[in-house]
Amino acid sequence: MPYAIYAKELLPMSDGIRRLAAVLILIAGAALLWLAGQHSHDAEAARNDLDSTVAYAREHSASSDPRLKATYSFERGGWVYVHLEGDPATIGFQHGYMLAKEIEDAFPAVQAGMVRSTQRDWAFFRQVAREMLWPKIDPEYQQELQGIAEGLSARTGSQLDVYDIVALNSFEEVPDYYVPWLNKKEKLAGAPNLKSPGNCSAFVATGSWTKDHQIVIAHNNWTSYLNGERWRIIFDIQPAHGYRILMDGFPGVIASDDDFGINSDGLMVTETTITQFEGWDPNGKPEFFRARKALQYAGSIDDYTRIMLDGNNGGYANDWLLGDRKTGEIAQLELGLKAYKLWRTKDGVFAGSNWARDPKVLKEDTPQFDPNDMTSSPNARRVRWEQLLNENKGKIDVSLAQQMLADHVDSFENKTGADERTLCGHVETSARGVSLWEWGAFYPGGAVQGKAADSAMAKGMRLIARLGHPCGDDFLAKPFLAAHPEFAWQEPFLRDLKAGPWTEFHSGEMPAAAK
Ligand SMILES: [Zn+2]
Repeated sequence: MPYAIYAKELLPMSDGIRRLAAVLILIAGAALLWLAGQHSHDAEAARNDLDSTVAYAREHSASSDPRLKATYSFERGGWVYVHLEGDPATIGFQHGYMLAKEIEDAFPAVQAGMVRSTQRDWAFFRQVAREMLWPKIDPEYQQELQGIAEGLSARTGSQLDVYDIVALNSFEEVPDYYVPWLNKKEKLAGAPNLKSPGNCSAFVATGSWTKDHQIVIAHNNWTSYLNGERWRIIFDIQPAHGYRILMDGFPGVIASDDDFGINSDGLMVTETTITQFEGWDPNGKPEFFRARKALQYAGSIDDYTRIMLDGNNGGYANDWLLGDRKTGEIAQLELGLKAYKLWRTKDGVFAGSNWARDPKVLKEDTPQFDPNDMTSSPNARRVRWEQLLNENKGKIDVSLAQQMLADHVDSFENKTGADERTLCGHVETSARGVSLWEWGAFYPGGAVQGKAADSAMAKGMRLIARLGHPCGDDFLAKPFLAAHPEFAWQEPFLRDLKAGPWTEFHSGEMPAAAK
């Protein structure tokens, strides 16, 4: 605009003066552009100052929020321990606020994996969250999920809303259970070959099998390293209603989700997923919500079974391994969608490594799974569990459980060496990968952490956990990506997964400095 004004004022001048003026205008214009550049630079700096002031003010005012009075967190052994306490909205707000950094780190990594594997955009997952999942979640967990979004926003100004958080919570069930079901229903041409995941090696033992004849429970979590290296939260939840919970978990997710937890009424819970599971009920209730509700409200194996069956949607179908320290009884709930089966005993052991065993579940829910293919990871680990548990009958305790979670015997090849068939899985070492789960050659996934507890520990609300491979080996991202450029898409998110020490945690634990 200034140029136009000058030009108009200069109109009556002679040609010579006009030319001179034109040159002057060009110079002035250049100077103005330079000044404008300087100005925007200053403006940017000022805006950054303002942003950090706003961020500080937001965090400062939020940190005096009464909802944060009872919460605290600390890091130990690579884990982030967080204490949440209060009504559902308060617990959620604390979760979002205290784990804001971890949620903002985990969200894009999980999102990238979901979008890539399903070839669906994020708007699709938000829509599923809003229209299919949200209406079936009990109000108290809706309030908790809403609280997570609010706490996150209060801490960082994050734009993630409650449907982003619900979609994140569904990361184990929507991409690998709902989407393949939907693709089949819509007869989608060229649909990606999605398979239900094979997460984990676990067992629960009791009676004459264990050293003290009480329950021992142990679990290692198998996932992609991308997700698994972020599965490092110890949640100590003291809800206004229901039982107190101590569980491992994922930032932003209300269930343990891998799963390992104990509650104050004596329930001890873990699971391994059912390989090649097929099926989904769009009218069912989300698995992440049922699993959290069951850990919070079940005081017995019967309660647990009833809550998991209520609105079973088939998502993230698992063999649940349960213990009740009050009775010494253990159980295996093989939770298919069309069929399910519950086994229980006060003297025995149940192991899991991603295989179904009930003939009806095998036939109706996992029609493609071959229980006789001993080369496959689930079956090879089933054999290894049988060997290890039988060899150690009567001697099993938590320290032996820790060793078992770190076991590197490949039962099919009958040799020692970590691969995709060992209880402590290192699939990135295997050219075979695990095709049953669509994990290709050298897939960066395997056992990402381990946990164990016994009845006495459960009574004291204690568990022991190790971040990283339970054997203590490290996974290093840089050399892996250099050797396997086919996984370059993970580069922005994939980090080293270094093993920490076995570390014990208990409910109500305070950070060392606060003791
Ligand atoms: Zn290992």
